Amino acid sequence: MRKSVVAIVGRPNVGKSTIFNRLVGDRISIVEDTPGVTRDRIYAEAEWLTTTFNVIDTGGIELGDEPLLVQMRAQAQVAIDEADVIIFMVNGRDGITGADEEVAKILFKSNKPVVLAVNKVDNPEMRETIYEFYSLGFGEPYPISGTHGLGLGDLLDAAVEYFPEKTTEPIDDDTIRFSLIGRPNVGKSSLVNSLLGQERVIVSSIAGTTRDAIDTPFTKDDRDFVIIDTAGMRKRGKVYESTERYSIMRALKAIERSDVVLSLIDAETGIQEQDKKIAGYAHEAGKAVIIVVNKWDTVDSNEKAMKEFEDDVRSNFRFLDYAPIAFLSAKTKKRTHTLLPKVIEASENHARRVQSSVLNEVIMDALAMNPTPSIKGQKLKIFYATQVAVKPPTFVVFVNEPELMHFTYERFLENRIREAFGFEGTPIKIIARKRS
Ligand code: GDP
Ligand code: GDP
Repeated sequence: MRKSVVAIVGRPNVGKSTIFNRLVGDRISIVEDTPGVTRDRIYAEAEWLTTTFNVIDTGGIELGDEPLLVQMRAQAQVAIDEADVIIFMVNGRDGITGADEEVAKILFKSNKPVVLAVNKVDNPEMRETIYEFYSLGFGEPYPISGTHGLGLGDLLDAAVEYFPEKTTEPIDDDTIRFSLIGRPNVGKSSLVNSLLGQERVIVSSIAGTTRDAIDTPFTKDDRDFVIIDTAGMRKRGKVYESTERYSIMRALKAIERSDVVLSLIDAETGIQEQDKKIAGYAHEAGKAVIIVVNKWDTVDSNEKAMKEFEDDVRSNFRFLDYAPIAFLSAKTKKRTHTLLPKVIEASENHARRVQSSVLNEVIMDALAMNPTPSIKGQKLKIFYATQVAVKPPTFVVFVNEPELMHFTYERFLENRIREAFGFEGTPIKIIARKRS
């Protein structure tokens, strides 16, 4: 089910990123946990009471040297295009400025729900300042303080009120939903066209999907698929769509709604840093992943070249050791027929449940083969394992002391489980829990 999206808009320095960070907390992901990268984060999950939603900090979408006004317009447009609810943020210490009025004008025309947040209201005495903001025309202004974390509850209550009714996805469970991600020009739209070109496209808009999501259903050999749109495919040509952060954000949105993610690499240019980062998002989201090496027509293709490229992929994408690799050409359509069978297999493995009895036999065999480690004289004991979830397959292992479950031993168990059950294409999670 699709999560609602909240975007924060406002002129620079009103406190957008401060509030964004407060809302999403410090869930820094492994992919982004490198210096200089964390700041890139403009799209993340947040929680309020029982609701999980996604937040966009539109202030993070910068357009090179464009003038401030152009930047603000583009940021407001992102909010309008991507969000279900917009938090329009102003600064209670400055009163209404011309720039605030510019943003207000754009939001007003959009007909999207807007909640007005007056930030930097750090103490109760300052609450008087909020009344002038009624004149912006967005109803009640909510006083907040990013620095002190005040007022956020009321603001979020107001925002959540506007979340669309959760309709269940109209697509039945057997449908495989997948998306294509990758740097600009790796060939995402070409591959979509080539996949759809050879299949029968059912041209119907699906009731219940949001207006901004273009999902394309198709059927092949009696299997139903849906390709989930990412920015690269549409090329609407708006300035901000070419920015890196925007394209990452679109990829994250698409990944979230997919079962299987095709992570594209350009064989012509070879593997680049950004490829790893983008593929890392799919892995972290717990989706099935297939690595697609596109433009294989540009490589002098023989067995040896393929093996070399494969080794290169494996050494660069160690965290995706479970992902199959498809070499193909979207342009000539060579080998594109190899793709959907891989998508089907990965999707089935992603949703697979194994029997507890068989799982425990595998674990016991693993224990016999490689006894559990000891840390500071205390030995890890494993009592029992059970699969608690699918998409991705998640296993809880009951132990005497979870801290004794070292990463390398967990990895060993994962490998044994994979050897026994397959699970090609999908990440699996292992959680050590103390037996109570
Ligand atoms: P953005 O450009 O809108 O993303 O704004 P930032 O989040 O970067 O904040 C701009 C400045 O305002 C920073 O120096 C923040 O520390 C400060 N700031 C943010 N929220 C508050 C607040 O509630 N009260 C006060 N006094 N300062 C704040
Ligand atoms: P996107 O930005 O990821 O959607 O990439 P496009 O599908 O727009 O492709 C970018 C460029 O690469 C276009 O000029 C395509 O014609 C070209 N291209 C895409 N796939 C292939 C391929 O398999 N082989 C070759 N030689 N070129 C390709």
